Amino acid sequence: MSHPSFENAVGRFRTILEEQYQRVERISRPVEWLDYSKLDRLVVGVIGGDGIGPIIAGEARRVMEELLRDELKSGRVEIRQIEGLTIENRIRELKPLPEEVLAEIKKCHVLLKGPTTTPEEGSGVPNIESANIAIRRAFDLFANVRPVRIPSQGIDWVFFRENTEGEYVLGSKGVLVTPDMAVDFKVTTRPGAERIIRMAFEHARKTGRKRVTVVTKANVIKTTDGLFLEVAKGVAKEFPEISWDGWYIDVFTAKLIDEKRRRDFQVVVLPNLYGDIVTDEAAELQGGVGTAGSANIGARFGMFEAIHGSAPRMISEGRGQYADPLSLMRAAVMMLEHVGMKEKSAMLSKALDVCGVYDQKAKITGRPDGATAARFGDYVIATLRDPGLDAKWASFQKA
Ligand code: NAD
Repeated sequence: MSHPSFENAVGRFRTILEEQYQRVERISRPVEWLDYSKLDRLVVGVIGGDGIGPIIAGEARRVMEELLRDELKSGRVEIRQIEGLTIENRIRELKPLPEEVLAEIKKCHVLLKGPTTTPEEGSGVPNIESANIAIRRAFDLFANVRPVRIPSQGIDWVFFRENTEGEYVLGSKGVLVTPDMAVDFKVTTRPGAERIIRMAFEHARKTGRKRVTVVTKANVIKTTDGLFLEVAKGVAKEFPEISWDGWYIDVFTAKLIDEKRRRDFQVVVLPNLYGDIVTDEAAELQGGVGTAGSANIGARFGMFEAIHGSAPRMISEGRGQYADPLSLMRAAVMMLEHVGMKEKSAMLSKALDVCGVYDQKAKITGRPDGATAARFGDYVIATLRDPGLDAKWASFQKA
């Protein structure tokens, strides 16, 4: 049985195949990674974004200015505010990433980005694609790295979420074939799976971790997830000192809340959509999505952000100033580590542990009964200035 609209749907599927085939060729070519240590001047872009974004990005920027005071003065680092990545502009231009914003981002080496709103199908707003997905694609930021730590429970996870494939990247290319039949697409490629899985194993090797967990639903989603798992088996052979195990996403999601088993996980690598969902769950265990940062890494660019969105309800209820900026500050820790400023990264990480986990003298609740983002920012700055920070942090470790 056929329908007149099939031809159109098949045509769109063909376009996807052509695009993805070209992408496979492109990402299979060797690329030289940017060596940040060779830069005379590191340019850090800061984007506020939408909703609570400008509030938390402002606090993260203030903290970085304190931490990098000398580097900013000497010109070794420049922090550059990039305007215009707002939902209003994107709707006006009907583009997920306006050209002038992309041009400004390209002048930076790394980006600290506040969350951006993505309109939903049927919301009455033009259905433009996510700005994040557009940036990830523009710079081929294939690895979304999301750490979650709960020291009191012995939890120290690092998730490596594939960032450029899966259902997500084709999410705006689905076809409403007839009013009663909608079809979306999912893609996994061998080089795409290989580079994220290898990065997860290399991270385990570099940090002395002994276990990598590969999460799919390969028993049901046999072709795409099947390829991801097959690639993992091959890559694992190059890392004989690291044990690896395959889990299905449903059981893995359950095990993350199993207090007896969950601390055994160390490094986790997974396709795009599963990675997005599971890392929100993991962040909730850590203290809420507002506490978790993430890195989007490609060979020549990195974008660092919160794992959460623009929290429009906080804004509409007048609670924006109570948003937790810890997520973006944790992202800044990852950024400093990525560009090789390891001491600065460790110092900020310790200050955030003291302010956000151990001492908590300005506890954020997201509501007026908690601290404001600005007060938390002041607290982090004061903690960074405290010459006793190292000793204080060490004493909490022992406790
Ligand atoms: P959300 O992440 O914005 O909010 C989920 C819940 O977490 C809400 O209850 C919110 O109040 C709370 N929350 C989020 N960040 C917080 C913080 N820093 N402090 C305290 N509480 C916080 O999820 P949503 O409502 O599904 O998404 C809102 C918009 O953000 C959507 O348009 C979505 O597409 C977009 N989004 C953007 C990104 C990104 O830019 N990286 C990521 C996810 C969602």
